[in-house]
Amino acid sequence: MKICVLPGDGIGPEITAEAVRVLEALQTDGLKFEMETALLGGCGVDATGNPYPEATSKLAREADAVLLGAVGGPQWDTLPREQRPERGLLGIRKELGLFANLRPAILYPELANASTLKPEVVAGLDILIVRELTGDIYFGQPRGIEVRDGQRYGFNTMHYTESEIRRIGRVAFEAARKRSKKVCSVDKMNVLETTQLWRDVMNELAPEYPDVELTHMLVDNAAMQLVRNPKQFDVMVTGNMFGDILSDEASMLTGSIGMLPSASLDENNKGLFEPCHGSAPDIAGKGVANPLATILSAAMMLRYTFSREEAAARIENAVKKVLAQGYRTGDIFEPGMKRVGTKEMGDAVLAAM
Ligand code: NAD
Repeated sequence: MKICVLPGDGIGPEITAEAVRVLEALQTDGLKFEMETALLGGCGVDATGNPYPEATSKLAREADAVLLGAVGGPQWDTLPREQRPERGLLGIRKELGLFANLRPAILYPELANASTLKPEVVAGLDILIVRELTGDIYFGQPRGIEVRDGQRYGFNTMHYTESEIRRIGRVAFEAARKRSKKVCSVDKMNVLETTQLWRDVMNELAPEYPDVELTHMLVDNAAMQLVRNPKQFDVMVTGNMFGDILSDEASMLTGSIGMLPSASLDENNKGLFEPCHGSAPDIAGKGVANPLATILSAAMMLRYTFSREEAAARIENAVKKVLAQGYRTGDIFEPGMKRVGTKEMGDAVLAAM
């Protein structure tokens, strides 16, 4: 299993180092990883002038999966747009054809107080948002701002082909099979024809997955239900724009950004796995960042790219255990708990495994 490791900038190298240690520890279970590190983001700009250097692109294309820390930082914010670290991120996502973004929002009972919602509403929350990443109104043509009839006129185009919808639908149904076997498809079919087609195609797919229950919800209701009763959901699948908004809403239900992993997959389940948070320049180099989102991203890699459910669960159970044991980095610290740094948290996960 070839893994391209891209630590990136800020806290990226610190948190990826812990995820790499966790993967290395699993090798004793008969898994064999070949891990190679390369530059992405600001560190790529500093070394080569390019946020997505050619050597990184080659390694990423040849690998089975990519493990990414985070990119960016204030020192690169004034560079021309094509040299900004974020360009590296967009570049690798595009080149690898990653069309499916999977974001679990899990609230471990021990961290229920971190949420702004009442603990009884969110404790034990475990949902997965599946967002289509490469289509929809974000990429549709024509688009622009023009002057028409003497005033400025802005326009975008929403579109999906049935094959694009079917492709992301399958990801959601397959993911649900590995979970509680429920898919809620989110659309706005009462107003938008594109999403009427979305609903029709989801309904056509459903008979192929008789073990999974499919329901539909309009996006405005979905936004409301996510804060009213989020535990009713298992897998939610939706288009690029609705998914952008709902996945951020869902991740904030947990209140702890340092805990949230993500996966972006291509058609063959090759993927890029990264924490949802950024490079946290404010705490970089201090050894205090929470590595759990990155460690949980490595677990997602084992599940979705390598189909190693047991190894993935072993990491996730170890994370649950360290939380139950009271280990907390600064971002999730509460009085009475054991405050630890990045490496100590990694040590605790390894011990729990
Ligand atoms: P951020 O997620 O980096 O940080 C927001 C806050 O959360 C900060 O206070 C930070 O200290 C804290 N935080 C984040 N991750 C943490 C962790 N693992 N442990 C403890 N605390 C953590 O968002 P930002 O400050 O808006 O952005 C900083 C930089 O990261 C910017 O350059 C931005 O462009 C970049 N960014 C990159 C990605 C990515 O690589 N995918 C995503 C978002 C932002």
